[in-house]
Amino acid sequence: MLVFASQYATQPKKYHAMQQFHTVIIGGGPGGLSCAAALAKKGVKVLLLERKQHLGPKVCAGGVTWAGLGAKLPPELIERSFQTQKISSPWQTVTIRSPTPIISTVNREKLGQQMAEKARAAGATIISGVTVREIHHKHVVTSTGNFGYGFLVGADGSSSLVRRYLGIPTTAMGIGINCQLNGKFNDMEWCLDSKHFGCGYAWIFPHQDSASVGAYVDRRSMTGKTLLNRFHAWCTQRQIDITDQRPRAALINYDFRGYGFDNRFLVGDAAGLASGLTGEGIYPAILSGETIAELIVDPAADTKKLQRLIDKQHRHQRLLACIGRNRLCSTFCSEAVVLGLRTGLIPINTLEMG
Ligand SMILES: Cc1cc2nc3c(=O)[nH]c(=O)nc-3n(C[C@H](O)[C@H](O)[C@H](O)COP(=O)(O)OP(=O)(O)OC[C@H]3O[C@@H](n4cnc5c(N)ncnc54)[C@H](O)[C@@H]3O)c2cc1C
Repeated sequence: MLVFASQYATQPKKYHAMQQFHTVIIGGGPGGLSCAAALAKKGVKVLLLERKQHLGPKVCAGGVTWAGLGAKLPPELIERSFQTQKISSPWQTVTIRSPTPIISTVNREKLGQQMAEKARAAGATIISGVTVREIHHKHVVTSTGNFGYGFLVGADGSSSLVRRYLGIPTTAMGIGINCQLNGKFNDMEWCLDSKHFGCGYAWIFPHQDSASVGAYVDRRSMTGKTLLNRFHAWCTQRQIDITDQRPRAALINYDFRGYGFDNRFLVGDAAGLASGLTGEGIYPAILSGETIAELIVDPAADTKKLQRLIDKQHRHQRLLACIGRNRLCSTFCSEAVVLGLRTGLIPINTLEMG
């Protein structure tokens, strides 16, 4: 039976007969949505299932590197763009300048809504408010019915059900904590403060009338509770008032172990493609979503761009392993990184995924 996108409003319905799709994508983050749009553009009958009712919102700072994604985003999605980056460690502060923007900020809700609109316009079927509960050889079981697939894409984030179904373990994870503070903030800041965050860092990413203030650490270096306490201590030290805020945390998977497993694929955080060093994951999710779409249609498709990203991600992991050995090492390396940025020995794009 043919299924038309317009049949699905955001409200899930009960489906009795199993609907068959060429490709089923689980997860409507940037990875799933980019994959759905690219497949639909190629005429593939694709279904995307998202458990949240409303696509887009996610615990995230919304920073996108200009080299990776920023330059390609429609201007209406960009909240603020920064040609300077203020990077500090306990002993030094450096301001990096560039003639073009280095990082922009986006609102994740607007980004998700716009990507969903594009995917729908290209012909993808998107059903939100539906949780995939089980995965079988040729179909998935959801809260509203079963859907058959020829290809399955796991774009279901850091706690991916598809990844677990494939039996792929996840040990390398980061934790990010974030709150969105109202007000006008001027500088985009990165604070490599090893006393509070070991080999991680805290940030201030200004948006239009607010700022994302948060911190990212490797999960192996501290628990979520310790991160929360240290984040509070750091905010107090910086005189940032978060007393009426409820910081929200989420995991970031950087344990990449492959993306293609016969007719099943993983993209974005489900594949572990975020940077372990910085937690940057939006661009890796979008690039991997698009590349997997091409591979599904043509197994001989060019994967060079994705391969370059994977190589960079490995370099970030090696650097993280080096920095994260102990507190002394973190302190020394943070100072060395800031010094390297200051003298130009380390170009800022070394820290970016794009
Ligand atoms: C605090 C914090 C700050 C961050 N800041 C940045 C930043 O500034 N820049 C950056 O590039 N990255 C940042 N990241 C990382 C970035 O948010 C992720 O890497 C990115 O969202 C990954 O996209 P994705 O599509 O792979 O997964 P997600 O965006 O996590 O999307 C997965 C989707 O799958 C859905 N899903 C999961 N399970 C099921 C199921 N069983 N059935 C149906 N749907 C399901 C989820 O509801 C979700 O919508 C940050 C992360 C955190 C935690």
